Amino acid sequence: MCLCHESRHPDHDLVPSRYATRIGEIDVLVISDGALPIPADILGTNVDSAVRDAALRERFLPDVIDWGLNVVVVHSGGRTILIDAGVGLEMPDATRAGRLALRLKGAGIDPASVTDVVATHIHMDHIGGLLDQRLRSQMRPDLRVHVSHTDIEFFKSPDFSHNTFGGIQDIIRSSARKFLDAYKAELRPFDKQHEVAPGVVVTLTGGHTPGHSVVRVSSGGERLTFAGDAVVPVGVDCPEWQNAFDHEPEEATRVRMRLLREAASTGELFLASHLSFPSLGRVAAAGKAFRYVPANWAY
Ligand SMILES: [Zn+2]
Repeated sequence: MCLCHESRHPDHDLVPSRYATRIGEIDVLVISDGALPIPADILGTNVDSAVRDAALRERFLPDVIDWGLNVVVVHSGGRTILIDAGVGLEMPDATRAGRLALRLKGAGIDPASVTDVVATHIHMDHIGGLLDQRLRSQMRPDLRVHVSHTDIEFFKSPDFSHNTFGGIQDIIRSSARKFLDAYKAELRPFDKQHEVAPGVVVTLTGGHTPGHSVVRVSSGGERLTFAGDAVVPVGVDCPEWQNAFDHEPEEATRVRMRLLREAASTGELFLASHLSFPSLGRVAAAGKAFRYVPANWAY
C-alpha cells in the first residue's frame, strides 16, 4: 500500500484537508482545494535573481513550489459564507487541485447551505470552483456572490501589462468571462466595503488586482484576516518582493506592507490563499520585514 500524501481514491485523503477554528462566536473552517505547481522564481520579479535564488534556497524551497489553494467557510448570523472557491477544472493539467467539491462533502458542508460567496478577486484559482458543475449544480438559486465592482469592470477586459507570468493569461481571461456570465444574476458588487454577515466584512484593497479585497472576521474581541493574494509564499519575510501575478505590483507592495503592519500590531489571526495549509498564523514585526508565526493546532 502506498502511504504517499495522496491516496489513489480522490475522496479519501491521507492528509487533512480542513481545519476548524473559532473567532469569538463565529465558526471558521479552512479547506484546501489542493495545490498548483508554480515556478518559485515568479515570487520575486523585482529582485536580483542570484539574491532571490539564495533566499529561496535558505527557505528550503524547490524550483517548483506547491501553491496551496486555501478556501474558507464561515458561519455567522445564520449565513454560510464561502470565501473563494479554488481553481475547479479551469486548469485540467493541475491534477492535485480542484478538489473543493469533494472536500466540502468530506467536511459535511452541503453546497445548498451556502448562502453567500465572496471572491477576493476574479482570478481562476479563486473563482474556478464556482464554474465546476459538481458544485454549481448544487448551489441555491438565491445565492449571493460578493465581488468588488472594480474587479467586475476590470476583468471584462483585463490589462496584463504588469502581470508577467504569460502562460496563464488566456485561462485567466476565459475563466473571468465565464464567471461573469454564469453568475450575472447572483453578483452583488460592492464599492469599498460590505458586511456580508454579522462580523464578516469584505474590504477593497486593490494591488494584486485592481479590485482585490480581503475579508475580516471579528467577534468577541478577536479578529481574523483572510488576505487573499495580498501575501503569497515568502511575502511575509520578504514583503517587498513582487510576484508575477500582480496586476499592480507597486500598489500590491503598499497593500501587503499595510496589512502586515496592521496584523503585527493587532496580533490577529492571519491567513492567505497560497500560504501553506492551513495557513493560520500570526504576523510578528522583524526589523523592516515580518515573521510568520504559525498558530498552534488544536488537536
Ligand atoms: Zn491566487
